Amino acid sequence: MIRINANYQKLHASYLFSDIATRVAAFQAEHPGARIIKMGIGDITRALPSACVAAFHSAVDEMASDETFRGYGPEQGYEFLRTAIATAEFRSRGVDISADEVFISDGAKCDTGNIQELFSTDVVVAVQDPVYPVYVDTNVMAGRTGEWRRGRYEGMVYLESTEKNGFVPEPPVDLVDPIDLVYLCFPNNPTGSVATKEQLQRWVDYAIEHKALLLFDAAYVAFIRDDSIPHSIFEIPGAREVAIEFRSFSKSAGFTGTRCAYTIIPKSCRAFSSDGASVAIHELWNRRHTTKFNGVSYPVQRAAEAVFSPEGAKQTRELIDYYLENASVIRERLSELGFRVYGGLHSPYIWAGAESRRTDSWEFFDRLLHKAHVVCTPGSGFGACGEGYVRFSAFNDRASVDEAMSRMSGDL
Ligand SMILES: *Cc1c(COP(=O)(O)O)cnc(C)c1O
Repeated sequence: MIRINANYQKLHASYLFSDIATRVAAFQAEHPGARIIKMGIGDITRALPSACVAAFHSAVDEMASDETFRGYGPEQGYEFLRTAIATAEFRSRGVDISADEVFISDGAKCDTGNIQELFSTDVVVAVQDPVYPVYVDTNVMAGRTGEWRRGRYEGMVYLESTEKNGFVPEPPVDLVDPIDLVYLCFPNNPTGSVATKEQLQRWVDYAIEHKALLLFDAAYVAFIRDDSIPHSIFEIPGAREVAIEFRSFSKSAGFTGTRCAYTIIPKSCRAFSSDGASVAIHELWNRRHTTKFNGVSYPVQRAAEAVFSPEGAKQTRELIDYYLENASVIRERLSELGFRVYGGLHSPYIWAGAESRRTDSWEFFDRLLHKAHVVCTPGSGFGACGEGYVRFSAFNDRASVDEAMSRMSGDL
């Protein structure tokens, strides 16, 4: 009898995006003339930078001739891209990362989802709340949690990210069992918060002390516009032994539909075998990657490389600036309306709290839909600590953002 992985039955179905679609469809049916503006989606809306498109085209042409055709490439990614990343994203900022510590992949979603399989099923896992659901669900599937009860999985540690801590949780001091595997995401999705050097240092120190591992998701690093904010966990002393970093071209250069990302695993980063011996995670991931993955397509890697050319860098910056200006328009309007507004400064996401702490996320969502015909994402869909908030995405065209904001008025 073929039996299923019973852990899948523990997965709590998230109805967030289907609930949103249902409510929007019902509203549209009642108000056929209303032009609804969607500000809930976390997807890029503008075209690829032209430098990337040119490199993409010319790599496709190479595939069209026997002399320049490429078949399977290295699973870890082409040297040209790994070197460009190590140089432009790390070494130029004084961060010690070499090209062979960069693994190219087809997405940070896959990498953040797959990395957990290197670790024992009995490690204690911690996530921020609110959270990007991939970290949670992949650990549930692997059997690292108990059942879903009262809005949370048993056995998972939730690091509460609230107004009180500026949406940046501190390492726990009160746990009987210290945590072993910690997912941190900065700039954060959904709250838009960023962490300081001191805050990240406390996490690195915790990981060293407790022999834990930090999984640092920096998918939104390109939105940081302040040099004093760490861009990489590897700017923090000690991190090379205790951290892995995930990055992606999705949000930085509009590659959500093109697919290219990378994971940094320093050669000195370690985990432990049951006898306490130190094991290089770099070797484990290399083994996993070469066994289960066959590389990102050559034209896509050429398109990604073009992000680091002088024109590509300039165009990418302009693209992000455009979204950051949207974010600033949204921030300003929501503040004027009396909402508590967070994020949107080094992030495409604005995290807004209702004026009254008793308003729940869905009430807030319905009010915006009915009064302004604007769709946002209810914060409760990202975790218990998201209740009372909604997330606005700055991934949109300026005219729609302006229109949406002007529809929001004082009597909202
Ligand atoms: C969008 C996003 C990613 C990127 O995923 P890709 O698979 O590279 O497109 C990773 N982490 C977070 C938190 C995200 O929001």
